[in-house]
Amino acid sequence: MKKIPVAILGATGSVGQKFVELLTNHPWFEIAELAASEKSATKKYKDATKWVMSSKLNERIGNTEVKLCKPNLTSKLVFSALDSSVAGKLESEFAQNGYFVISNSKNHRFDEDVPLLIPEVNHEHLQIIKNKKGAIVTNPNCSTIGLTIAIKPLSDAFGIEQLNVVTMQAVSGGGYPGVPSLDILGNVVPFISGEEEKMKTEPLKILGRLINGKIKQANFTISAQCNRVPVIDGHLETVQIKFKNKPTKNEILEVWKNFKSLPQELNLPSAPQQPVYYFEEEHLPQPRLNSNLENGMAVSVGRLREDEIFDYKFVVLSHNTVRGAAGGTLLTAELLKAKNYLDEIL
Ligand code: NAP
Repeated sequence: MKKIPVAILGATGSVGQKFVELLTNHPWFEIAELAASEKSATKKYKDATKWVMSSKLNERIGNTEVKLCKPNLTSKLVFSALDSSVAGKLESEFAQNGYFVISNSKNHRFDEDVPLLIPEVNHEHLQIIKNKKGAIVTNPNCSTIGLTIAIKPLSDAFGIEQLNVVTMQAVSGGGYPGVPSLDILGNVVPFISGEEEKMKTEPLKILGRLINGKIKQANFTISAQCNRVPVIDGHLETVQIKFKNKPTKNEILEVWKNFKSLPQELNLPSAPQQPVYYFEEEHLPQPRLNSNLENGMAVSVGRLREDEIFDYKFVVLSHNTVRGAAGGTLLTAELLKAKNYLDEIL
């Protein structure tokens, strides 16, 4: 199969670099264009970015000239890792000009004609963009993604009434250079701007049902508290949950173990074989030990036990820049390709 040329908007940032890393040897896609702000445009990529990935920057990509984020790129499939201060307008311009934009930014997540997608959770929402020549599909917030993958099979099997989540979020979630070291080393910052709002609202759209081409949001209450902790990668979340039909602990474990979805059926290149792993060990999951499970695409859960106020409580961990950003976006692109949504632009 001839590889599909793709562009990365915001290629020089933290998520942009992760895109470059994950796309470098991708079996279906090939990086053709890299774009960023005026500050970086016309420079070679290796000079425009401070490469902080653990892999070596590919020579061809390092020597690629960075372009401006204008809808005159030749690649019609575009991954966006743009700063949210500019993503809204730029992504709309690309979509209006016939590009497929898959974005990590918050700006379009609640637009009616934009799926807020996690391929294992709500792939049917892609129907909103069926037969479109240009469109935006968004990734949810990085903490929302781990949480929603873990609760999707529980919501389907038992119904959710109320959910309380407290996050401990890695510093890489704030981009590069992110939180100043003097603010975070040996410390916890109990506030991340806008994060609690996203966690309270996004899962409800993602778990919503598609009725006559429109999404009817799920109807339960989420309370969220978000903290920044001195961890490099991996968002850990403690969750308390009240169900409509309270299951046994074993029923919950069975549901997690058996959870598979369309990306697994289609055997997509970035799909984890098992989306949710349960750790029996009481001290797991931990960010440093388990964030990279299945190349960072699987979600880890552990410590499931009865709760004194809600029905149950447990811990969720997911890799914020892989499953929570670039890797999740890549999986969405693979799903779009496999389900022929990209035929119009190829
Ligand atoms: P970042 O490191 O600050 O990178 C931002 C990128 O946007 C850079 O490539 C920058 O290019 C580009 N940019 C800024 N102003 C621009 C302009 N006027 N025109 C064109 N390009 C411009 O941010 P990040 O952490 O990678 O996050 C990128 C997006 O993903 C954000 O919307 C963020 O909220 C979202 N997100 C991040 C994570 C995470 O874990 N980090 C997870 C999920 C979602 P220059 O280098 O040229 O300035």
